[in-house]
Amino acid sequence: MALPQNQIPTAFEAFVNATSIDEACKALAIGDGTVVAGGTDLWVQKDEAHKTFGPRLINISNIEELARIEIGRDRIRLGARVTMSDILDNGDLGDIAPALCEAANKFASPQIRNAATIGGNVANASPAADAVVPLLCLDAKIELSKWDGKKISTRDVPADAFFSAPGQSVLAVDELITAISFEHPGTNPIARFFKSGPRPALEIAIVSLGFSARLAGGKLTNVRIALGAVGPTPVRARKTEKLLEGQRLTDDLKAAALDTLADEISPIDDVRGSAWYRQHLARTYLQEALHDAAQS
Ligand SMILES: Cc1cc2nc3c(=O)[nH]c(=O)nc-3n(C[C@H](O)[C@H](O)[C@H](O)COP(=O)(O)OP(=O)(O)OC[C@H]3O[C@@H](n4cnc5c(N)ncnc54)[C@H](O)[C@@H]3O)c2cc1C
Repeated sequence: MALPQNQIPTAFEAFVNATSIDEACKALAIGDGTVVAGGTDLWVQKDEAHKTFGPRLINISNIEELARIEIGRDRIRLGARVTMSDILDNGDLGDIAPALCEAANKFASPQIRNAATIGGNVANASPAADAVVPLLCLDAKIELSKWDGKKISTRDVPADAFFSAPGQSVLAVDELITAISFEHPGTNPIARFFKSGPRPALEIAIVSLGFSARLAGGKLTNVRIALGAVGPTPVRARKTEKLLEGQRLTDDLKAAALDTLADEISPIDDVRGSAWYRQHLARTYLQEALHDAAQS
């Protein structure tokens, strides 16, 4: 969704309508920039007292190269400006990354999905960010670009190492998220995404859980479990993954996995749900994921 130049919010003092990564990174290099992509978080947050934004608004929604979905034989690359609707509408991603598509499908309303970008979801660093949970299961990397004075330089940060606290990450003020990429998971991965809220859409998750694995000779391999809204950042459940890795899914193992998961997450009570309820949801979703895995 392109933002017309005459819609500059009054709280910002300058507006850069970038049409290339170069232009956006050079504007960010000045150090007082705020990126806007779909604006679905930014417009809501710009008046919140606890968050401050640089006064130079840099619109990236007209940068075509950030809107590409590249399906390579080995790697998938989603430009930062790819929207949740783009993910849902892409014919290949449904097979390659079904949990990411499930997350996009449970994301807000069609109107928000048309504007909300994957880069914005990552950059916003909410503990409940829906797209981040399947990205953690995919071992995704976040590509960060900046103008180093002579050229654009980039670094790749594993999604797992990107988030540091609610709303905070390793993204520097002069950096732009340019893409999110992950290894091609091969055909027919077991991959699920679960999300709970009072309504199926237009809700921030009370708990979300992503699960992915392969089944080889009756044993689970490449087990990945990630959760949203059970801590200050989206997290991987590494102890539970380790317990399941390389094992046959017996009833005893499933029960042990649920207990291990309960031990390794520490959700809090808040207005959207109690810690007890969050624990209960996390266990229920893992149980369902393991049941599905056993059937596949
Ligand atoms: C009604 C409503 C419902 C919602 N429902 C959900 C939901 O179900 N699930 C969910 O996860 N979220 C939900 N959200 C939150 C929001 O839609 C998502 O987080 C969305 O993905 C943000 O993307 P955006 O392009 O709109 O980001 P913007 O609002 O444009 O930006 C968000 C933040 O990221 C920064 N930013 C954006 N792009 C980049 C980039 N490429 N590089 C560096 N920084 C960048 C901005 O400066 C800003 O701080 C909802 C929001 C609303 C208003």
